[in-house]
Amino acid sequence: MGLVVQKYGGSSVADAEGIKRVAKRIVDTKKDGHQVVVVVSAMGDTTDELIDLAEQVSPMPAGREFDMLLTAGERISMALLAMAIKNLGHEAQSFTGSQAGVITDSVHNKARIIDVTPGRIRTALDEGNIAIVAGFQGVSQDKKDITTLGRGGSDTTAVALAAALDAEVCEIYTDVDGVFTADPRVVKKAKKIDWISFEDMLELAASGSKVLLHRCVEYARRYNIPIHVRSSFSGLQGTWVSNEPQGDRKVEQAIISGVAHDTSEAKITVVGVPDKPGEAAAIFRAVADAEINIDMIVQNVSAAATGLTDISFTLPKAEGRKAIDELEKAKTAIGFDSLRYDDQIGKISLVGAGMKTNPGVTADFFKALSDAGVNIELISTSEIRISVVTRADDVNEAVRAVHTAFGLDSDSDEAVVYGGTGR
Ligand code: ADP
Ligand code: ASP
Ligand code: MG
Repeated sequence: MGLVVQKYGGSSVADAEGIKRVAKRIVDTKKDGHQVVVVVSAMGDTTDELIDLAEQVSPMPAGREFDMLLTAGERISMALLAMAIKNLGHEAQSFTGSQAGVITDSVHNKARIIDVTPGRIRTALDEGNIAIVAGFQGVSQDKKDITTLGRGGSDTTAVALAAALDAEVCEIYTDVDGVFTADPRVVKKAKKIDWISFEDMLELAASGSKVLLHRCVEYARRYNIPIHVRSSFSGLQGTWVSNEPQGDRKVEQAIISGVAHDTSEAKITVVGVPDKPGEAAAIFRAVADAEINIDMIVQNVSAAATGLTDISFTLPKAEGRKAIDELEKAKTAIGFDSLRYDDQIGKISLVGAGMKTNPGVTADFFKALSDAGVNIELISTSEIRISVVTRADDVNEAVRAVHTAFGLDSDSDEAVVYGGTGR
């Protein structure tokens, strides 16, 4: 039997009991004859607590030190998990990201993996150990500094190791039974999806379904690693994410895969921008030079009398302050009037490959939102996704309305959330 990579999220190892429960599941996999590599996240909300702590000592902590701090969370859980496994009579060794050969670029807080050289993991496996790897962290190629991969990055560590070790599957264990048609914390009637294509999962993840991180899905698609998302609390089959349905199971691709929502973004409006070539380029150059990723962009029609226009864009709230600072610095050079910052927004997205061939989907989506009394502020689309920005307060209601309107509600089973705080 082959090599399996298993990733356990923070809610699965939230306390000592959780760690012992997970250790038992890992040992059972090993007893089934597999070689097992485990990627583990920080316990419970440890990462959030470390971030809160950092903010108390410095409002804008330096990237290098911030990463050094955050990686401590995963070190705690990896060592405890290795101890729990040994206590069950099996050999286990824990490794930091750096020891496991996770090599990244040097962009602190959101580093990208550029190479994985898991020599020590291979040796540990060959010697009969279960290898436990700290998720969400690596070491930069040039400066050899410790880096983190961005929130939720343990998912990416798992898939990257699965690819480097040629694993037969990457199992992502979390606090729900798989990928659902909407976040089960918001939609009790969400349905578990048995199989979803990389393409649709990528859009759901990019639109805020944090059950899988979008970089992890990108990685899995590039190296064709099937992902099995499932609960560490139940023994149920979860959701397979792959190019094709697994084995001989005939699963139809749904027209609509699901509804995603995201309240982690803010909106910046650049007011009074001269309507001439080069202005948008200058604004987004200033933001890009600060390594900030933006999401949606809208430019209003300019007022005939003034020749001025407004440009709005969304970006992660966590980077809002940096973006405002950078734009203020470039204000005279760009020549706009002022900046407005709004962090009370939310985004709702409908995802499904079937959209390509069903022209009514957009109209039905807007109708569902208007029936729910939800006002739309920005719109963006791709071939298989429609997203809108609304007030943050409207998001949950809007998600439920759209879920019902597209016939996604389940008749009976209530979606179970086993743990976690949803933070
Ligand atoms: P972990 O700590 O295991 O990484 P996360 O909190 O990152 O767990 O991801 C699991 C959470 O993702 C679930 O508890 C759920 O609230 C949320 N979620 C959002 N969208 C979905 C979805 N479509 N299907 C399942 N879970 C979702
Ligand atoms: N502990 C990190 C976080 O909370 C990484 C992860 O859980 O994937 O974002
Ligand atoms: Mg996660």
